Amino acid sequence: MRWGLIGASRIASGYVIDAIRAQADCEIQSVLSTSTSRGASFAANHGIADSYTDLDALLTDASVDAVYISTTNEKHHPQAMAAIAAGKHVLCEKPLAMSLSEACEMVRTAEEKGVVFATNHHLRNAGSHLAIQDLIANDRIGKVLSARVFHAVNLPEHLRGWRINDAAAGGGVIPDITVHDADTIRFHLSEDPVDVVAKSGSSGLGDGVEDSVMSVWSMPSGAMVQTHESFTHGYAGTGIEFHGTKGSIFARNVMTQEPVGEIRLVDAQGEAAVAYEKHNLYHRALGLFVEAVTGSGQPSADGVDGVKSLAVALAVREAAKSGTATTVDYGG
Ligand code: NDP
Repeated sequence: MRWGLIGASRIASGYVIDAIRAQADCEIQSVLSTSTSRGASFAANHGIADSYTDLDALLTDASVDAVYISTTNEKHHPQAMAAIAAGKHVLCEKPLAMSLSEACEMVRTAEEKGVVFATNHHLRNAGSHLAIQDLIANDRIGKVLSARVFHAVNLPEHLRGWRINDAAAGGGVIPDITVHDADTIRFHLSEDPVDVVAKSGSSGLGDGVEDSVMSVWSMPSGAMVQTHESFTHGYAGTGIEFHGTKGSIFARNVMTQEPVGEIRLVDAQGEAAVAYEKHNLYHRALGLFVEAVTGSGQPSADGVDGVKSLAVALAVREAAKSGTATTVDYGG
């Protein structure tokens, strides 16, 4: 399977190129950049044959079966629509788009065209999160009453570009991190938030976009979810907790790109560490995507998952702006 990379991005060079090449029979043929020189040096650095500044030129290459879109967020929709029209399978970065209607159109059009469309939500691929999901699904904590997500991090210096100062490119901590937390909560609880309240603000980095947000979500089961995302917290650490009628799960340092972190289960029997498999998150996501393309499985997060995580993030932003409870609009 041959890939085209749409976007000479850091996530591609840091994680996804390696994850594509870890799959049997996968090769990277081309990369698209807006800059001739950046595209050429990206291609040379990563052993990629072709670099383009023209999306149509990349998409016209019939040897390319799939594209990975990791440009800034405002470009995902037009680039995905062009790739789908060209008959390419699409793995798209989160957030899928700037608006719900754009994201819905991407997913609907891919389905009509018969190509695989997936969202790169890495966290649900982590061994830690698979183990947590297993505990919840197997009733180890009973009925879930509440969840807490701690995802306030220190945005690394090299990522302090469009994320902190460019609303038009999809900057802000809500499209960056809240979307991941929405996907992770949906993955664990197998239900979609109904409505949200939120407060957001700037705590040192955000310039025209929020760099911090706290929100509370109501779930159809009655469970309550509390989340905190930020770019400015150097020492907070990340984590997720689920509290149920029969026990609680405490997971620390698991809202991350690496296969790390600790999980503890506390119930009437006492407290125990939970073991889990420490595989590469992106390798697993790419493996499942390739299996979906070859007809033997499903991507770990599909297009609908990407629509729903975006819908929750948009509701959180709207709730923070309006100061009122906001119903999540999943686009019917
Ligand atoms: P980058 O800022 O690294 O890349 C985005 C665009 O910026 C690139 O397409 C590139 O444009 C341009 N660019 C890249 N490096 C430079 C540079 N040194 N100087 C100038 N411009 C540069 O973004 P990220 O990789 O952090 O994020 C890209 C997408 O991936 C976003 O949608 C983000 O939300 C998502 N993401 C997802 C993660 C996940 O784990 N699922 C983790 C991180 C990001 P051009 O292509 O035109 O050369």
